[in-house]
Amino acid sequence: MIPFASPHSQYKKLSKEIQAAIRLVLTSGEYILGPQVDSFEKEFAAYLNVPDVVGCANGTDALMLALRAHNIGVGDEVIIPSHTATASVAAVSICGATPIFADIELDYYTLDIRDVMRKCTSRTKAIIAVHLYGQPANMKELLSVARKHNLILIEDCAQAVGSAINGQKLGSIGDIGCFSFFPTKNLGAFGDAGAVACRNPAIAVRLKRLRQYGWNEERISVESGLNSRLDELQAAILRVKLPRLDANNEERLIQANRYHSAFLKLPVRSPLVRPGALHSYHLFVIRVAACDRDLLVSYLAKKGIKCGIHYATPVHKMPYFASKVALPNTEKIVNEIVSLPLFPGLKLHEQKRVITAVHSFFDEKM
Ligand SMILES: *Cc1c(COP(=O)(O)O)cnc(C)c1O
Repeated sequence: MIPFASPHSQYKKLSKEIQAAIRLVLTSGEYILGPQVDSFEKEFAAYLNVPDVVGCANGTDALMLALRAHNIGVGDEVIIPSHTATASVAAVSICGATPIFADIELDYYTLDIRDVMRKCTSRTKAIIAVHLYGQPANMKELLSVARKHNLILIEDCAQAVGSAINGQKLGSIGDIGCFSFFPTKNLGAFGDAGAVACRNPAIAVRLKRLRQYGWNEERISVESGLNSRLDELQAAILRVKLPRLDANNEERLIQANRYHSAFLKLPVRSPLVRPGALHSYHLFVIRVAACDRDLLVSYLAKKGIKCGIHYATPVHKMPYFASKVALPNTEKIVNEIVSLPLFPGLKLHEQKRVITAVHSFFDEKM
């Protein structure tokens, strides 16, 4: 069986160091917002080249805290792709704001700038640029639209930790960057964890209040807040894994390039990479004819190869978020996408089995 992702192989590789890090926290007696969270925030800020990182409980909260730190709530509109993890949109709605769905570019699967401009109204307060699959959104154009209309540009970097555009790490380009360390993400904890990266020190102060009951530094609530702290144990684990992130992403890139050249002659569309981008390949998503998609997935499953579909239902088609908006590109690709196994620790012979199986699917169809 070839899994689709394998956080467990990361654990096996680093088990001694991870166990030592966990033991250190357990014996230290400091379990909440202690030295591990503090150090991780500093190390991750240095990695991203931003002044401040604020840890929080998960990636959804990171987005929610980013919105709330900018006073975005009831009556405000937030432009967001529908072709994303439900979490991106859930964060908007838990703030009381209205998600306004925009379509994606067919080449890169990130926000289509023309549709974003069309969706701007006097109520628009923010854009959430999702760097889907590890591909950078069109930040240059999005920044210029955001500046023109006085909008907050939030980067959803949950799938793009380590990705960059023109040498700048994602999460350091917009007004604020939001990260998830869900176990399967490129930088994964062994439980839930998240973080917000910001360039404005006043926003960092605000995020620290919001994540803990609205407390100021004297532990006096000065506004409404919740409990969304990054766990000390998860921070300790993330500190072991952060120094390996770039090497892991390089391994993903090598695997992606291998798939890419193997599929050149097949009726398969491999992901394009935006010019100037360093793609972190959180997912390797191919597109095939809609009539072949489900057949391919079940063919591979029969050969012991597990694939994914990210995402089978666009968020605007889900009952709670249902919208009649027309998103032709989103609705087209949803029936064509397949995510192939790609993760650090995927063995060469395993990847060759995937490649051979994809070839034989199309050979047998002839
Ligand atoms: C994983 C993910 C999130 C949310 O992360 P959680 O930690 O599960 O809350 C948000 N946006 C995108 C694009 C994601 O892939």
